[in-house]
Amino acid sequence: MNLLRDAGLAEAGCQKIDWAASYMPVLNGLAAEFAETRPFAGLRVALSIHLEAKTARMALALGQGGADVAVTGCNPLSTQDDVAAGLASRGVAVYAWHGATPTEYEAHLSAALGFYPHLILDDGGDFTALLHGAQASLGQALIGGTEETTTGVHRLRARAAAGALRFPMLAVNDADCKHLFDNRYGTGQSTWAAILHATNVQVTGKTVVVAGYGWCGRGVALRAQGLGARVIVTEIDPVKAIEAAMDGFSVMTMEDAAPLGDFFITVTGCRDVITRRHMARMKDGAILSNAGHFDLEVSLPDLEALAAEVWPRREHITGYRMPDGRVLNLLAQGRLVNLASGNGHPAEIMDMSFSVQALALLHMARHGGDMPPGVYDIPPDIDRAVSQRKLAAMGLSIDRLTAEQEAYLNHY
Ligand code: NAD
Ligand code: SAH
Repeated sequence: MNLLRDAGLAEAGCQKIDWAASYMPVLNGLAAEFAETRPFAGLRVALSIHLEAKTARMALALGQGGADVAVTGCNPLSTQDDVAAGLASRGVAVYAWHGATPTEYEAHLSAALGFYPHLILDDGGDFTALLHGAQASLGQALIGGTEETTTGVHRLRARAAAGALRFPMLAVNDADCKHLFDNRYGTGQSTWAAILHATNVQVTGKTVVVAGYGWCGRGVALRAQGLGARVIVTEIDPVKAIEAAMDGFSVMTMEDAAPLGDFFITVTGCRDVITRRHMARMKDGAILSNAGHFDLEVSLPDLEALAAEVWPRREHITGYRMPDGRVLNLLAQGRLVNLASGNGHPAEIMDMSFSVQALALLHMARHGGDMPPGVYDIPPDIDRAVSQRKLAAMGLSIDRLTAEQEAYLNHY
């Protein structure tokens, strides 16, 4: 039995799924091949990932390949109830609803693991944590899985280094066809799409503070610049800080940036990036948001402790009135703004991320039985296959090395 908010929303959800699918040519091509070869026949696959239209397309592609698929979310605020209903109406087991409480959220994850999956797709490590803890018994058929995001891969590596990882996992985030496009251009566009939609205020001429200049931060800063903002970057890594400076951005500490920013966007994967000592110096009306993993980058306990009044200002925006009268505005409760108050990355981007995912799951299905527990890089032929197919879908051609050129490049 599915766990849905409202099965009656299926038609609207199917429209969203079909719209997204029409911009996902690589995944559609793989799905057509899977439908012929049925490489997942007999396998149960459980997915914990933002349950929206592009994810639904991927779940259906795995089903076309013969898998029995169960899907749950990876964030209580990113599930779209209409998409969940639409996916369920197309035969996938769905356990998720928008705004799940912590207890419901864990129950949904456990229900998906109750499928006794052979393969898992994790985004952020919640499945992995359960399979090493409260729900370890549900992993008895598990071959291995894949991890979608930077923080999830960090966690897996930490678990593996401690000798505590019990199955093989492929680091999808580290594939070129994933982080180069998804983390950078996907987060760049979708973070701004969500902020603009939620606030409906002008960015041009304002000051945007981006915390973290990794793959995501680069995209968020680049798009802020394109919107006409002055951009300040904060970092802890000296090399990344130099890169940001040479890309034309101001670099300073959060302490110095705090009184200057109109918008603050954290994308570090770290915690307590914006705390009370920064909040104390911010302008009246500053807009705070997070696009990194978890709701720990902007300190909610500090905001709550400082505030004389907390009230909902409009959908996705909470106001915190400071005792001196200044109001600080927090988007999406400090959770991933692009997914909690937006649709996440565009379909063309997820076309690549999820094609890598589909091929990585296939690799795990075929070879996982021979892979000892550990964190594995994506085989280079997967990046090559996805990039070649994407390039062809984009109608672009590139040159090929001649035999002489190849010999020249390889001579010593
Ligand atoms: P990354 O490792 O490439 O970049 C993170 C950067 O933050 C690094 O340069 C690091 O030096 C910097 N940093 C760390 N702590 C800091 C601090 N206290 N202050 C300032 N800078 C600090 O990682 P990434 O791929 O850019 O991912 C960043 C986060 O975003 C991760 O949690 C990841 O899981 C998440 N993510 C979100 C989305 C999305 O859709 N919103 C997409 C991909 C990744
Ligand atoms: N459970 C964590 C997950 C971090 S999400 C949390 O909620 O904090 C970051 C990942 O979301 C990225 O790696 C990206 O690949 C994925 N993502 C971004 N847009 C998406 C979309 N439209 N659909 C599904 N996943 C998406």
